[in-house]
Amino acid sequence: MKLAICPGSFDPVTNGHLDIIKRSACLVDKLIVAAFINPTKHYMFTTEERLDMLRETTRNIPNVEVDAFDGLLNEYCAEKNCHLLIRGLRAFSDFEYEFQRALMIKQIDPTLETAFFMTDSRYSYLSSTGVRELAHFNGDITRMVPEYVQEMIRKKLDSMKK
Ligand code: ADP
Repeated sequence: MKLAICPGSFDPVTNGHLDIIKRSACLVDKLIVAAFINPTKHYMFTTEERLDMLRETTRNIPNVEVDAFDGLLNEYCAEKNCHLLIRGLRAFSDFEYEFQRALMIKQIDPTLETAFFMTDSRYSYLSSTGVRELAHFNGDITRMVPEYVQEMIRKKLDSMKK
């Protein structure tokens, strides 16, 4: 079975992520979309909320499974017996970071390959950070994240105001 893992923060999942997820899921038997749990990072959404948004927005893609992981990515891949990582590339700035990460992980585990998907031009500007900032200032995020995520962001911002 051809298995791949698409790791990320997904805080929250955006249409850019979903485009990469859909396109890569077509090429494998199973795609695990795995949300990082990094205790040193401050997320807008809890792990459960990030997973819930991922599950809701990928429920129409039958070979996608949503999971969370902490610790080292290569150890998580070994645990799942997976040798393929999927990442998205937006701009030159992503390239440098992704290049280093891919080489570093290959150094740790030479059986682990990273495959990159070039962003769709519609989403080249899109990041979770941008969506969070825009939403915070009441900007229009309707073309950036699915409706379910828009609603979750609205609820989260309301609860933060209380
Ligand atoms: P971010 O917080 O920067 O949105 P994540 O850590 O959640 O990023 O990203 C997971 C993966 O998705 C990374 O490989 C990232 O480059 C990719 N990605 C994020 N946004 C986009 C986008 N708009 N188009 C293509 N790939 C993207």
